[in-house]
Amino acid sequence: MWPTTWPGDAFNKESPLSLPPVFDFHTHTLFSDGELVPAELARRARMAGYEVLGLADHADHGCLDHILGSVRGSALALAGHLGGLTILPGVEITHVPPPLLADLVKKARDLGASHVVVHGESPVEPVAPGTNLAAIEAGVDLLAHPGFLSEKEAARAAEKGVFLELSLRGGHGLTNGWVARLARKYGAGLLVSSDGHLVGEYLTPELQRSTALGAGLSEEEFAALMDGAARLAETARRRLSL
Ligand SMILES: [Zn+2]
Ligand SMILES: [Zn+2]
Repeated sequence: MWPTTWPGDAFNKESPLSLPPVFDFHTHTLFSDGELVPAELARRARMAGYEVLGLADHADHGCLDHILGSVRGSALALAGHLGGLTILPGVEITHVPPPLLADLVKKARDLGASHVVVHGESPVEPVAPGTNLAAIEAGVDLLAHPGFLSEKEAARAAEKGVFLELSLRGGHGLTNGWVARLARKYGAGLLVSSDGHLVGEYLTPELQRSTALGAGLSEEEFAALMDGAARLAETARRRLSL
């Protein structure tokens, strides 16, 4: 039985459904612009029904090794102390010019990132055009909030095995339906992420399902999304030798 709400959450309704636990590969801590240390975020996540908590703080060239060193330190120290919760020390490469992305993705992997997210062309931020395609070609694990991604980008994401994000976050989530439609057309994998920064912005099992179904996924497509999330979690664990 998974707890279904964040402690103190006003949206505290009972759910008759048996829902899968949360797999969220895109969250922020105070190592970038979130408000919680990983230890508190992990504890709250465990109580809210998470099975996988992916840390993905913002990084560019100057802070990549600092961010990864910090989140790896937390994740490795906490491992095994939070019941069944897996904490993954990843990173979100953010607003880096597209020609520089491939090298930085490789550097993140060399520094031991469990998974690499790139901050895609959200409809509410001036992300450089070409970021989506450069991230996909670099073989990132997750392209966050890709906005109005193109048919070519969706097709390449499917070929490269890059997951596309359905975002809980306000603004970024405006194009979830668009992303879901193109992912279905080309067979690209989808993940639901919170992109949470503050208490109250992270997922619950209900919100994970609502974000997927609200983007137009069927129950079967949601089940396939969760299968994909489990596969990425396995890959990330293997990279960490957990
Ligand atoms: Zn942020
Ligand atoms: Zn983010």
